[in-house]
Amino acid sequence: RGLMGIKKIREELETTGDMGSQIMVFVRLRPMGKKEDETGSRTCVRIVNKRDVYLTEFASETDYLRLKRVRGRHFCFDASFPESTSQQEVYSTTTAEIVEGVLRGRNGSVFCYGATGAGKTYTMLGTIENPGVMVLAIKDLFSKIRQRSFDGKHSVLLSYLEVYNETVRDLLSPGRPLVLREDKQGITAAGLTQYRAYSTDEVMQLLLQGNRNRTTEPTRVNETSSRSHAILQVVAEYQVKDSVNVITRVGKLSLIDLAGSERALATDLRTQRSIEGANINRSLLALSSCINALVEGKKHIPYRNSKLTQLLKDSLGGPCNTVMIANISPSNLSFNETQNTLHWADRAKEIRNKASSVDEEAVQLPEFETEQTKLLLELQKQN
Ligand code: ADP
Ligand code: MG
Repeated sequence: RGLMGIKKIREELETTGDMGSQIMVFVRLRPMGKKEDETGSRTCVRIVNKRDVYLTEFASETDYLRLKRVRGRHFCFDASFPESTSQQEVYSTTTAEIVEGVLRGRNGSVFCYGATGAGKTYTMLGTIENPGVMVLAIKDLFSKIRQRSFDGKHSVLLSYLEVYNETVRDLLSPGRPLVLREDKQGITAAGLTQYRAYSTDEVMQLLLQGNRNRTTEPTRVNETSSRSHAILQVVAEYQVKDSVNVITRVGKLSLIDLAGSERALATDLRTQRSIEGANINRSLLALSSCINALVEGKKHIPYRNSKLTQLLKDSLGGPCNTVMIANISPSNLSFNETQNTLHWADRAKEIRNKASSVDEEAVQLPEFETEQTKLLLELQKQN
């Protein structure tokens, strides 16, 4: 099934009456970087048919001649984006439907997950020339609200914050750490700036400035910290009118540029077990546990275990859509991180499959051993 299939699955899930949490999982491969090119690194990932991801581990030439095969793995996601994919295409495929839900009062969240340097911030924030998901989502929200609001009135409120080392900070108004409070409305960060946005143009500048306020690693000044999660929350409110009533629609969209996953959820290749150590990022682990619990339909969701999950409580559980974008580098120098990221994304996808009522056949790719081997060989030959 192609990209049309995604919409269909979402519709199916909604019509089955299951209004619980749904997760869609995507992979985005970024182009090879200059530095990687200069160090002569080779491509170890290939994306075929916008869905299949082939990861190869390079064997030595003698191994290759002796075994006549390559070690590699094949993954399949809701959609996978090759290097050339535009920001707009990533937005349309992953987030446009989530924004539709938000406009109908269904909260939604989109996460970028992956190692440092894999393209999370590029995907979420992007550049002035190529704005990312955060900016494109707000642009889409504005244009759709303006079309649908019956009286033209609406409000779009933005908050941009970071969780670093279990401390919450306001990226739009840096200062002392914020305290989380729980009230009837849910969990809020006391004193957090809510910026009323009037146009898309101002949003990019605002977010770029906010990103400059992100905590940098003490040992690597000037580099964005790999340990900080950036969360943009957008609350959109407007009114629609049916034949009799005026209905207020409120929805919340959370867009999250997660901390680098490299030291947080490292997986031992041979044992497939998580290496748990002092370096583990608590919020990232807690997020994984919450997602697992949600999609398995557990009664108790362990939101309280971290600041990130507390902040996202109303955007993860209940009638809510969740999207995961796993970012990966094509370079063989990042092979281990790429493999870990793909495993993580694969697990998230598997759980979703189990939880949903969608036909398993339709979701899982049939095995085609020979085709797969051919592609892997071809990929290795090219290098
Ligand atoms: P992360 O936030 O995951 O640490 P970045 O988003 O900062 O990684 O990406 C690392 C580098 O790669 C940046 O210089 C960024 O501009 C570039 N990059 C990432 N993804 C892409 C892409 N899809 N197209 C072009 N350049 C990209
Ligand atoms: Mg980043």
